[in-house]
Amino acid sequence: MTAPQHHIPEPMMAAYVAGNLPQPFAVVVATHISMCDECRARHETHLALGGAVLESLEDAPVSDAMRAGLFAMLDEPAPEEPAAPKPRGIYPAPLADMVPGDGPRWRSIGMGARQSILWRGKEGSLRLLYIPAGQAVPDHSHNGLELTLVLQGSFSDEGGRFGVGDVEVADEAVEHTPLAGIDSPCICLAATDAPLRFSGMIPRLLQPVFRI
Ligand SMILES: [Zn+2]
Repeated sequence: MTAPQHHIPEPMMAAYVAGNLPQPFAVVVATHISMCDECRARHETHLALGGAVLESLEDAPVSDAMRAGLFAMLDEPAPEEPAAPKPRGIYPAPLADMVPGDGPRWRSIGMGARQSILWRGKEGSLRLLYIPAGQAVPDHSHNGLELTLVLQGSFSDEGGRFGVGDVEVADEAVEHTPLAGIDSPCICLAATDAPLRFSGMIPRLLQPVFRI
């Protein structure tokens, strides 16, 4: 795999480290970090900076009782860490547990494209998108922010070419038409913080059926 060319924007990385991202976006960011050396290093720098801020607060006076309590806690064995999730197929570790063992539950969204909703809540939705090789995703715009991470194949749109590991961030001003590469079907992880609003007539009619 070539190194990703499209990364997590800085404000989004900062919000992720602070725990302020909606859940669907946090999963996409964690998945990209697991695929991208550059963003893994940026993430570690953010964590170290956060740790430095905490250390600078350490000068507050600590009572003897509190100090004794803290040392007692340090002596206790650490709780056992749960087993780290493992990557499976094209699904990196942060995603693997969200995809059923025998594969995603695909539903047709027309024109050969399919989706599988992994998570849906007040904060938005997270889904897998399957686009046949050389095909376009129905032209759509959205009310909020959309974050798309390529897991297999590639797609191109007005924002450039996106291969495995690349992230596209599209806001409501972007009306884009992703076109899958011709070599293989494109499978993406897509997070939105508001329902997509398809601009083509037929997809709009299908929307209540497929709950896009
Ligand atoms: Zn990156």
